[in-house]
Parts: sequence; C-alpha cells; structure tokens
Amino acid sequence: MSSVRAVTVRDCAIGGAEVVVMAGPCAIESREQIFEAAEVVAASGARFLRGGAFKVRTSPTAFQGLGWDGWKLLREAADAHGMLTVSEILHEEQIDEARRFVDFAQIGSRNMQNIPLLKALGRSRMPVMLKRGFGCTIDEWVHAAEYILTEGNPDVVLCERGIRTFESATRFTLDVAAVPIAKKRLGLPVLVDPSHAAGNREWVECLALTGVACGGDGLLVETHPEPSKALSDGPQAVPLGDFPALMEKTRRVCHAVGRSMAGSRVAAAA
Ligand code: PEP
Ligand code: MN
Repeated sequence: MSSVRAVTVRDCAIGGAEVVVMAGPCAIESREQIFEAAEVVAASGARFLRGGAFKVRTSPTAFQGLGWDGWKLLREAADAHGMLTVSEILHEEQIDEARRFVDFAQIGSRNMQNIPLLKALGRSRMPVMLKRGFGCTIDEWVHAAEYILTEGNPDVVLCERGIRTFESATRFTLDVAAVPIAKKRLGLPVLVDPSHAAGNREWVECLALTGVACGGDGLLVETHPEPSKALSDGPQAVPLGDFPALMEKTRRVCHAVGRSMAGSRVAAAA
C-alpha cells in the first residue's frame, strides 16, 4: 500500500499508523443530543466529533441545521470530552469565524467542485477534508484537491463517501478501489465514510470494516442517540448504543492490517 504524508489536525495525525475515527450525528440538533453522542463516541475511541451545523440538503424544506449555535454546541461537547471537531463549511465568508469552532473543515460532496470555496480554503491554511463528489471521477477529485494545495495549503485529506451508480439497494456505491488509487495519486491520507455510501444502518458496519481493510486512514461515521427521531439522515445513523461494538470490530480489522486505533476508554478503565 502506498505511503502517505500524514496531515496533523491539532495533536492528531491522520495518515500515520493510527486509523482515526470521526463520529457523531449528521446534524447537531440540541445540546442533549450532541453531548450524549460526544460522551459515547469519545469513550469508544473516536478522536473527532462530527456534526453538521449548516446542512446541504437535497430539499429546501428539510432541516437546514442550527447554524452558528450548532457550532458552539459542537465545540463545547468536543471540549468536554477532549475531542477535535469536524464540520462542513459552506461559504468562504464562514472560514475565519469557523476556526473558533471547527478544527477540520469538511467540504461536502455537493461542493467538491466549488472552485472559489476550494481556493479560499487553500488560502486559509485550515486542515481540510475534501469529500468526493458523488458524480465525480477520481481524476476530478484529485484535481479538486490540487486547487487547495496550489493555493498553499498542504493539509488536505480526501474522503470517499460513495458514488452514484445504477445500483439502488444502497444510497451510493462505496468505491473501494478509489481509496488506494487516490492515496497513490496524491500521497495524501484518504478517509472512508460508510454512512452516506450505505444510506441504511444495516450496511454501515460492513462498509466501515471494508474501509479500514482497503487502506482507509480513518472513518467518518454517523451515529445518533435516537435515529428514528433524527432530523437528518436517520436511516443510516448507527444507534449510539451499537457504536462501541462497531468500534471493537473496527479495532480488530485495524490490527489485522497492521494499523492501530485509539483505545476504548471504557475498556481501559475497567
Ligand atoms: C455529511 O457528512 O453529513 C454530508 C452531507 O455528507 P456528503 O457531503 O458526503 O453528502
Ligand atoms: Mn449526513
């Protein structure tokens, strides 16, 4: 497997021996929800708390997120559990202020070719996670990353989140081969998002384990205290109660492929 240059977000290296897990709800919905999620995912070994505050939804009538209030809650919940934050940034104008709340800037699938946003993040020097556009080739994805790199920001991590194919049994099709190919093309870390690829929680575990086995440097997983009440992406949310078991299995696959994963604080304390 090709070696990559690790990208460091605060004190966390992505692309080294450790597989880095980022987990939390699709959208931040309330203080209770994000704090509950943070407690469980941190205890299971996740290093980043994820959660969208500005949601890019297919329909304009769907929940659009809590905005800045959501980011404040994300920061508080992450800080309370010694975690880093990852969240989607939509506009160039959000970048400066976002740095107070967001450690790792996510560019969503629908914005992968938003060139002004890519260039602005390239100038910002904020670590960036570039999701693959679901209708884009690996080549287009690599060129999108180059827009950020050539503006002077070396801290770019890619994220394979599934592409649109003729298959409709899953929401998208996880392009497993894209992980080693993109790593080789850019020499940068690649994460895997099993949640948006699956679209159904039943297949998330299988795709998460596959994501580590094919060389993914980390995972981005959606989990929710009560998926049936989730305001966004409920069907693919792993119930928080099932998250520790998913992490245990993932840890075993990490070891099988010569990687490690942050320890479960619950197991360590027992
Ligand atoms: C998300 O991470 O919640 C999200 C909207 O992802 P994507 O951009 O991959 O659809
Ligand atoms: Mn989502």
